[in-house]
Amino acid sequence: MGIDQFRYIKEIKEYAKEHKVPIMQDDGINFLTNFIIKHQITSVLEVGTAIGYSAIQMVLTSPTVKVTSIERDHERYLQALKNIKQLNLEDRITLIFRDAKEVHLDEKFDLIFLDAAKAQNIAFFEQFEKNLNPRGFILTDNISFHGLVEQEESKIESRNVRGLVRKIKNYIQFLKENEHYEVTFYKVGDGIAVARQKEE
Ligand code: SAM
Repeated sequence: MGIDQFRYIKEIKEYAKEHKVPIMQDDGINFLTNFIIKHQITSVLEVGTAIGYSAIQMVLTSPTVKVTSIERDHERYLQALKNIKQLNLEDRITLIFRDAKEVHLDEKFDLIFLDAAKAQNIAFFEQFEKNLNPRGFILTDNISFHGLVEQEESKIESRNVRGLVRKIKNYIQFLKENEHYEVTFYKVGDGIAVARQKEE
């Protein structure tokens, strides 16, 4: 008999909480999985695996979905490997242990999910858009950054946080001005941006 998937996923969430691993919020995950179903996505490139939670949720939407996911933190990568193995999903999720900046792939994907370092979103968008299938999607999480992006900048005390908020704002501007994509922003979870490649 197979492992109780539901219970194991709950354990992954508990591990994340206990070890302070940032994983997608529940409504963000619901949005992402419904998005995959609605658009009949079968291939995903994820930048930022953490412990494999979102990658696992994505492949569990349908037996046709495959995910390639990149993580640079060794401990998290090992934990993700363990979780994927426990759920017998090794043939559906491919993990790459490396800084995403150094990853160059030839494969094409229906969806690219950017969920790594927020300050690097523009760089990752530009690096990986060549890996997108025609009319594919680039989805980015944490566009609202706990509501701070909508807040007046002078009210944010920490200089580091202010710097990050500015980078997220730059990314939002970059998306809005990018004429090759149709962009929609969703106030769900921590804020999600969906950029869909326009028809050439
Ligand atoms: N997608 C995961 C989920 O919801 O289950 C959460 C990912 S977490 C928000 C971001 C992860 O990106 C962290 O584990 C971090 O180590 C990783 N990361 C940050 N910068 C990276 C980079 N340049 N290359 C690869 N991984 C990176």
